[in-house]
Amino acid sequence: MFTGIHDEVRPQLETLALDPARPLVITDADEVLFNFMIGLEDFLGSLDLYFDWSSFALTGNIRRIADKEPIDQAEVGAMLSDFFDQRCAGLPAVEGAAEGLAALSEHAQIVVLSNVPPRYAAKRRKGLREKGMDFPLIANVGSKGQVVRYLTHKLEAPAYFIDDIPHNHSSVNEHAAHVHRLHYIADTRLSKLLGPAEHSHTRLYSWPEISDHIIRHIGTGDV
Ligand SMILES: [Mg+2]
Repeated sequence: MFTGIHDEVRPQLETLALDPARPLVITDADEVLFNFMIGLEDFLGSLDLYFDWSSFALTGNIRRIADKEPIDQAEVGAMLSDFFDQRCAGLPAVEGAAEGLAALSEHAQIVVLSNVPPRYAAKRRKGLREKGMDFPLIANVGSKGQVVRYLTHKLEAPAYFIDDIPHNHSSVNEHAAHVHRLHYIADTRLSKLLGPAEHSHTRLYSWPEISDHIIRHIGTGDV
């Protein structure tokens, strides 16, 4: 029934004890809970690289300071792996994220669904803990829709999905269309490069907006 879930992800899902009667908030981490781009820019500088802010993508926009040429996809992948290894435990938290999750946790159970490589999950958990966001983490590989379907298939209460990347909203729409999808990009520079995700229900611009929206929706069922 749950094809398309990576072998490293399924055991993590099986350890979660979710209450089917309680609303569920599934939140991404990078650019939702953590200031990924602020951390990435600093890391790129240490490698004599920079992000050129011309579109919402990493590949093609990370360039060498020396000759302004972009690094290729394989180099981006290797750089990102090093970034998570060295920086993800210490990334700054998005303004209002810890307070928003704390407010939501009075109304819902919370799961962090991040595409941090599973080998760095402990470092991401450390970052969550130290920033006051000590909620269960699933370190996912690949698209998110099947995982969200797994997390919500026994749920009898509303579920919410928060993510910055449009194709994650499309994947959740495809596999778990009943989940209410909120598009949020914390970095205002990045946010300006992209309109609302096609398969999200709404685009929101701050954590107070997100937590108020979900709490209101849980209470009334209105979007
Ligand atoms: Mg993200």
